[in-house]
Amino acid sequence: MTTTIRTAALGFPRIGARRELKTALEAFWSGKIPPQDLLQTAAALRKDNWQRQKAKGIAIIPSNDFSLYDHVLDTAIMVGAVQTDQGADDSRFLERYFALARGREAHDSNCSCGCVRGSGTKALEMTKWFDTNYHYLVPELQAGQSFFLQAAKPVAEFLEARALGIITRPVILGPVSFLLLAKCRDGETDTLTLLPKLVPVYQELLKQLKNVGCDWVQIDEPVLVTDLNKNQQGAFDYAYRLLGKDTSLPKILLASYFGDLGDNQTTALNLPVAGLHIDLVRGMNQLDSVVNALRPDQLLSLGVIDGRNVWRADVPKLVETFAPVIATLGADRVQLAPSCSLLHVPIDLQQESKLDDELKSWLAFAMQKLDELVLLARALSGEKAAVQTQLDHISTALAQRRSSPRIIKPQVRHELAQLKGKPVERRSPYAERSKKQKDILQLPLFPTTTIGSFPQSADVRKHRSAFTKGELSAADYNTFITERTKEAIGWQEEVGLDVLVHGEFERNDMVQYFGEKLDGFAFTQHGWVQSYGSRYVRPPIIYGDVTRPAPMTVAWWQTAQSFTSKPVKGMLTGPVTILNWSFVRDDQSREDTCRQIALAIRDEVKDLEKAGAKIIQIDEAALREGLPLKAKDKAHYLDWAVACFKLCQSTVEDSTQIHTHMCYSEFNDIIASIAAMDADVISIETSRSKMELLDIFKQFHYPNEIGPGVYDIHSPRIPAVDEITELLSHALNRLNADKLWFNPDCGLKTRHWEEVKPAIAHMVAAARILRQKTVQ
Ligand code: GLN
Ligand code: ZN
Repeated sequence: MTTTIRTAALGFPRIGARRELKTALEAFWSGKIPPQDLLQTAAALRKDNWQRQKAKGIAIIPSNDFSLYDHVLDTAIMVGAVQTDQGADDSRFLERYFALARGREAHDSNCSCGCVRGSGTKALEMTKWFDTNYHYLVPELQAGQSFFLQAAKPVAEFLEARALGIITRPVILGPVSFLLLAKCRDGETDTLTLLPKLVPVYQELLKQLKNVGCDWVQIDEPVLVTDLNKNQQGAFDYAYRLLGKDTSLPKILLASYFGDLGDNQTTALNLPVAGLHIDLVRGMNQLDSVVNALRPDQLLSLGVIDGRNVWRADVPKLVETFAPVIATLGADRVQLAPSCSLLHVPIDLQQESKLDDELKSWLAFAMQKLDELVLLARALSGEKAAVQTQLDHISTALAQRRSSPRIIKPQVRHELAQLKGKPVERRSPYAERSKKQKDILQLPLFPTTTIGSFPQSADVRKHRSAFTKGELSAADYNTFITERTKEAIGWQEEVGLDVLVHGEFERNDMVQYFGEKLDGFAFTQHGWVQSYGSRYVRPPIIYGDVTRPAPMTVAWWQTAQSFTSKPVKGMLTGPVTILNWSFVRDDQSREDTCRQIALAIRDEVKDLEKAGAKIIQIDEAALREGLPLKAKDKAHYLDWAVACFKLCQSTVEDSTQIHTHMCYSEFNDIIASIAAMDADVISIETSRSKMELLDIFKQFHYPNEIGPGVYDIHSPRIPAVDEITELLSHALNRLNADKLWFNPDCGLKTRHWEEVKPAIAHMVAAARILRQKTVQ
């Protein structure tokens, strides 16, 4: 009998198929349920996840992949990087835990959460987990600090699963990745200098795991797929010599994912660990060299099922591809796994009752991916005949996908082929355009504007939800939105803004709104994916060629413009942002998909211009997010991303002013690309850094107009007039007065009118003051 190849999962979504975790967290935060109830829900979710995986037939099931909020925060607590008064009761622990995650108001003198009394606790900074849309909390370390095993969460969860009869493989964020993801409070010290103090904590943890009968752990070191310098590679040698060689500790499966090992391959292969996991969805190129270099005592975990996307795997093809690898290594030395944790995909396709059967036959969510793994393992373990029908089934569905008229739209392909190689430049350079725009627009110095959305008040959300449920007619809904738009225009005129917006009251989300109006996009009912903590998103699925059946925003723009003689900006989401916030088809390059979206947005730009819009904003909030992890891949991405943006604006008249907006200002590394986009005006986020982020503009001459955000919309605080004038005088040190716009950091949809109204009034007042000063 042939050995059955083992299947393994590296991590399962934590949120619950019905978002149970969110519900419990929010109930707990608002004081509706006690700590025990929250912890019970968490335990029930872990149990459910383990049992789901077991029922599917997965051989190696992970534990400690669960988190109440974030696994990096959990790791920081585990190693004592932040103190939590572990011995305290649940309620005090949770208070401190969520204070770190979400911040909290200043406390009175009875406070026990560990904050400095009277000053509150600031939430840890949040940033993207590699190139995913998951955000982790950045641990703040101190130079020279020590660590200790404060909370052995992996041990507790291992025991919890064992009590249910399931022996798991705990997942632990590795020490090198942990330190590289953290930051030092002084902003200078290299966090890796703390490694010698951190590794003993991992040794202690592994010892405790071994003592309770755990033989294998999965240690995640995703930084292995990023560019590492010699010192960082050396840190791996150091840490794993201490963790991997000690036979009294559990064996280590070292997991790399989100790309190939690249220049770190030799480092990874030389480590004394018992197994290695590689991502073969993103890094198929590394297969042969890794297989050849693997030591005879090591096993290889093949990450073959895409943990980052929702497409059904071509299992028959995987059988062919991996049979030789198994023949070479022997079935004992191989495990089959998803490319990474399944955290990044929705849980269960079976919950989707509104997606049609054909589309569903092309998709796989977490549960279906487990089925694929098991099927693949059986086919590769000599049971091919027994599973042939299932394999054929997949082949048929995928053949249909390849040839379906829903996927291939000759018209858009033809149009893009014709555009290939053609310039995407505006007709004239900025200097000429700007003269024509100034003539037409007649704006004052330091024009004031906002980024697009106004508060999505409870009232707006209530009406939208009633409309979506069919409880409110389209006519009534439209009347309601028209009223809100009219009010918003009236208020903007009154407060004295120069360039108005319609307010985006009709939009549920800046990507979803467009996705729902474009062909080639599908939306799920339950396809939630964790973005951070209790915030989940339901990314659209781009399955086919993208086309625009009809104008998407023109009517609302017209309505808004009809209420005022001041210019109202047309407001669009850019192609790169739509792409980066969606599940993207895997049967053509991201670049090609993006060009199709760009074509649709270009047509919308044309229609807005035709309808009379003088200013059109194309938001690229997520352009930076799409940057690849390795430096060598960045230039190519930026090239096509910029080209896609430019395609959108390529047909407009010189006199039409194109704006773009980006919700960040870490521009230093991509400033040349931002400039190459050649938008007439760009608005960016700068207020939180007190305009320090504008320092780049001392060295780099940004040729076009720019609006550095002066009002931090992430905070309920209303900036005072002199605060804004002060911020802008900093900006004036770096940018030319005649190129400067005044605007908030980002859209105002999450704020309340009571905050927005005075804040914008202050901004307008500040602009007036500075205008006077500058003229004098
Ligand atoms: N126009 C959008 C808004 O104001 C931009 C949002 C964003 O950049 N995230 O809401
Ligand atoms: Zn923004």
